[in-house]
Amino acid sequence: MSTPLWNQYLRIKRRYPHAILFFHLGDFYETFNEDAKIVSAVCDVVLTSREIGKGQRVPLAGVPVRAYETYAAKLLQAGYTVALCQQLEDPATAKGLVERDVVRVLTPGTLVEPGLLDAKSANYLAALVLEGARAGLAYVEVSTGEFAATELPEDAPGPALRRRADPEAVWRDLLPELQRLGPAEVLVPATDPRAPEALQPYQPLVGQFHLTPYDAWHFHPDTAREALRQQYRVQTLAAFGLDDRPLAARAAGAILQYLQETQSAALKTLAPPRSYSTRQYMLLDPTTRRNLELAQSTRGGTVKGSLLWVLDRTRTAPGGRLLRRWLNQPLCDLAPLQARLDAVEHLLNDHALRSRLGQHLSRLPDLERLITRIAQGLAGPRDLISLREGLQTVAALRALLADQPAAEERVSGAAGRCSPVWTLLARLDPCPEVSAEIERALVADPPATLANGGVIRPGYATDLDALVESIREAREWVAGLERRERERTGLKGIRVGYNKVFGYYLEVSHPALRARLTPEILAQNPRLPDGRVPETVAEYLEGCCGYLRKQTLVGAERYVTPDLKEKEALINGAQEKIVALETRLFQDLCARVAAARERILATAAALAELDVYVSLAEVAERHRYVRPVLTAGERIRIVGGRHPVVELTLSEGGFVPNDCDLANSGPQIIILTGPNMSGKSTYLRQVALIVLLAQIGSFVPAEAAEIGLVDRIFTRVGAQDDIATGQSTFMVEMAETAYILHHATPRSLVIFDEIGRGTATYDGLAVARAVIEYVHDHPRLGCKTLFATHYHELTELERVLPRVRNYRVEVLEEGDQVVFLHRVVPGAADRSYGVHVARLAGLPGSVVQRAAELLRELERGKGGRRRRAGEETGERHTGGPALPFLADGLLPLIEELAGLDPNQLTPLQALIKLHELVERARQVRADARP
Ligand code: ADP
Ligand code: MG
Repeated sequence: MSTPLWNQYLRIKRRYPHAILFFHLGDFYETFNEDAKIVSAVCDVVLTSREIGKGQRVPLAGVPVRAYETYAAKLLQAGYTVALCQQLEDPATAKGLVERDVVRVLTPGTLVEPGLLDAKSANYLAALVLEGARAGLAYVEVSTGEFAATELPEDAPGPALRRRADPEAVWRDLLPELQRLGPAEVLVPATDPRAPEALQPYQPLVGQFHLTPYDAWHFHPDTAREALRQQYRVQTLAAFGLDDRPLAARAAGAILQYLQETQSAALKTLAPPRSYSTRQYMLLDPTTRRNLELAQSTRGGTVKGSLLWVLDRTRTAPGGRLLRRWLNQPLCDLAPLQARLDAVEHLLNDHALRSRLGQHLSRLPDLERLITRIAQGLAGPRDLISLREGLQTVAALRALLADQPAAEERVSGAAGRCSPVWTLLARLDPCPEVSAEIERALVADPPATLANGGVIRPGYATDLDALVESIREAREWVAGLERRERERTGLKGIRVGYNKVFGYYLEVSHPALRARLTPEILAQNPRLPDGRVPETVAEYLEGCCGYLRKQTLVGAERYVTPDLKEKEALINGAQEKIVALETRLFQDLCARVAAARERILATAAALAELDVYVSLAEVAERHRYVRPVLTAGERIRIVGGRHPVVELTLSEGGFVPNDCDLANSGPQIIILTGPNMSGKSTYLRQVALIVLLAQIGSFVPAEAAEIGLVDRIFTRVGAQDDIATGQSTFMVEMAETAYILHHATPRSLVIFDEIGRGTATYDGLAVARAVIEYVHDHPRLGCKTLFATHYHELTELERVLPRVRNYRVEVLEEGDQVVFLHRVVPGAADRSYGVHVARLAGLPGSVVQRAAELLRELERGKGGRRRRAGEETGERHTGGPALPFLADGLLPLIEELAGLDPNQLTPLQALIKLHELVERARQVRADARP
């Protein structure tokens, strides 16, 4: 490696100190020094060394250019970014040092390479800016051009806690939104991006997202606005809805600048930013998303076992992405949901149409990403072919509508209400002129790259045709040369050959050259320039036939002639000219195709929607779902509901369907009791999932369902320690419960699965009861609530709180066996099942017996202690006011606990706080137990 080359490397590397620099050298991307060590470790390639002049060696690791994506993917996965430094001229023709520069920085959020992207999910780059208790958030999908921005929290009359300028509160709105997007990369402002503490303010995101600290000045209001104005050539940002969302504008502007640096081609295809409000959608916090296993199962974290796994029968990548988006953003408006349901119903009933749609859809390429790649100048010849084939499929789909004269009429509004399926088909634009242009320009089966020509169809461009013709003639001339030279010279032994170093040559063996001339040649009376008659063949060829010696071999001599040299120059030059010309023609073609980008994107969007409807209709048919009746009312009534995922894990007919009836005016709160493993959690989730399915526009697993639309679903499930944040179980539980109590509205659906489990029995019971009372009585709440619990004491609430109902999961005792019927029926469960289950689990008989004894004793003891003086009832469940320990002091205590941030306390402060809390808790307990 020469010193100039090494200096070039160092010069470029200096500009990208934080990226792994892939330095293009021949067939490899080479990396050096620290980069090489990282590449070797992460990509499992050999670490060697290379001399850089004067006996100095540096570590080196290289990856083949052809397969670089695989290695880049691994590096991105490991949290690195990769700068691709390419040769900007052909090394074969370059004079001196080949010019090189970084053409692209690969970061997780800016990928467009199909090999690096997951076809079925969006790949978002987000930017975040925080100011006080507010946040600006923007995101782009570089491979599709989607660009959106919002500001959080949204101003709306909320509970007091929200209106207080609580800097922590912003995360409560931000985290769910980020979780919904699942960005591959999040830009955050940092005054010194290199400093180790740059990420300190974004602690809640660390570990969850790939954070890229980005110089804070990029987020400055002026810089950001300027970036937006320049990109879209506008004076004000009002059109984007960003004028009154300054933080959103700042985040959006920062994204533009980042793209400029890493992936400037992406800017060409970026849509204008769309400001949006998270209120259009049902809000789902991260905990609920996780608990309901929407796109990931809790066990294993894979799609398998999640709701998406059941729903996703989409055939196209954009369809898959759209379904995911719908699942993450259920709607709260009746009209669009009815339209979605109409489409699903239509396709469920019209079998023939559905299967034809399905067939065509499965042949479609990812039009959205394809056209974006073409517009960004990143497409190869085969991408255009695949676009053309895609558009032909679109034409076939559009023709389905033409087959239905009645439908065509309805689309045009001539008759009655029209199925959304027809409207979508009518929106498909096969862009025939684009197809035709591609067809005209490209050969049917072009090579993957432009490097060797052969891409443009003959007849498309006259200058190209002329070139091709001249090269064809020259080639033909060369092909006929051997025959002609043998005839001309009368020498049968002349052979025409080609090698890379010397090009074309005429080869004659030494014996043949030494031979005397034949009578036939002599008869032509050949003369050398000095007038002599040549004596040998060699003399004849060199002196009379214009043969020029080029290379001497052991057994032969190689010659060229002036004519051959001329044709060779023509062939070589023409090849280069052809490639250059084809490249230009191809780029022009791409530019013309890109002009149809908006139309193709709109078509792709309609196709994605059709794909989702076909998928939902198939799922509805296969698993016997029904159309839910959606209302703006307060009632949720489900007949014969099933859990969409659990039912698939059981054998056919194994799942026991259950009803559910909830309404704000009552029954508002269902308290569900039953032994472990009887199906409480399944029931709770199934109700939530059915509501959610209805609100994405899907049919639901039930015999019948009436769903009064809800604005949010909240869940607080189980008692697992949140190891990630290092908080104790009880703390997490109370924080999540507090979150629900603060954010739920009367239109919400709330699910509590065994809260209070993470603490001592009485504390847990007390908190659980207080929570139910609060939900029941607080004027801002009154939301529909499902409450599964192992505290049988809570079933007493049915008597005191008018809108509370007890339900239990039915169990059958056969002798000393317990059979789970999984059937949810009115009434409270018998408390002694724990002991039965112990028997079921195979504990020794004596242990089970002793447990039963103890239970009786405990119950007697507890009854006695809990009974108030003068109250002489023998009943096990004492009613109403018999639970005095829920003193007024409890809720403030919970609030206080939930508001604490252990990370912000020194150990000493924590200890003092703990003492104080314990003191207050004891006071509350003392008040509660006279
Ligand atoms: P719990 O929360 O009461 O402990 P789960 O809801 O976790 O119980 O259910 C335990 C198991 O019982 C589930 O994994 C499932 O296999 C089965 N199950 C639950 N509900 C039903 C049902 N309705 N029909 C059939 N099996 C069910
Ligand atoms: Mg459970």
